[in-house]
Amino acid sequence: MNKITILGSGTSTGVPILGCNCSVCKSNDPRNKRLRTAALLETDQHKTILIDASPDLRAQLLRTQTTKLDAVIITHDHADHTHGVDDLRPFSFQTSEALPVFADVHALDSLTTKFPYIFQREKVFAERPVIGGGIPLLDLHPILPGPNLVAAENFNFQALPHGHGESLCFIHQKLGYIIDCREIPETVLERFRDAKLEILVIDCLRYKPHQTHLHLELALKYIEQIAPKIALLTHLGHEMDYLELTNLLRKQGNRNVFPAIDGQSFLYS
Ligand SMILES: [Zn+2]
Ligand SMILES: [Zn+2]
Repeated sequence: MNKITILGSGTSTGVPILGCNCSVCKSNDPRNKRLRTAALLETDQHKTILIDASPDLRAQLLRTQTTKLDAVIITHDHADHTHGVDDLRPFSFQTSEALPVFADVHALDSLTTKFPYIFQREKVFAERPVIGGGIPLLDLHPILPGPNLVAAENFNFQALPHGHGESLCFIHQKLGYIIDCREIPETVLERFRDAKLEILVIDCLRYKPHQTHLHLELALKYIEQIAPKIALLTHLGHEMDYLELTNLLRKQGNRNVFPAIDGQSFLYS
């Protein structure tokens, strides 16, 4: 079996939001405490793969007691999915081998520009050797083409519109993972439906429509079309109270849809 752990189910600010006095941000329900969106996959090939390097990465990997990573997949270059890359530094303490980071060509370019000390290290440190605490040893790889760890694990990636760019969603065995998108084209929906998913993790920012994310009604429409056994709503904002949302889903008859909770794990074949 494969395993997915929800490292974070919160939108880009996390929940609670700094300085916000709303009822969800002030809630004592631990299910309303959401770190930034990320996930950890432990595959039946004994590979541990991180999905996105959120700014909360250190806390997230401490919670899962992760001591080894085989790869990192970056879905897109936004801050809430990439600004934790420096927290990957301790993985370089154990090995001299660089940890592979996979992304599409746009995100690779963006990471190279945003973090030159990591991704242009030969150039940056050519005449000024690294001293002190060191830098994360990470190598960038395009997700396509060519044989690599990601290809060997049979990931099926699709690009979805998100903001001014694109975000990658994927199918891994019986898991579907769709985050940060404003819509899902019919061709992509078909692939997800054909995969007969056991678990679908899907973007669901809030109740009202949003320019760059799925809202509840649209996410539920896609869930119905994809027809997974279980759907988990993620990238949740502070409009979404766990209990209120769960009650609403049950009232609407959505028995297999749940708000994701930080730290929860699911097995899938
Ligand atoms: Zn995001
Ligand atoms: Zn709030």
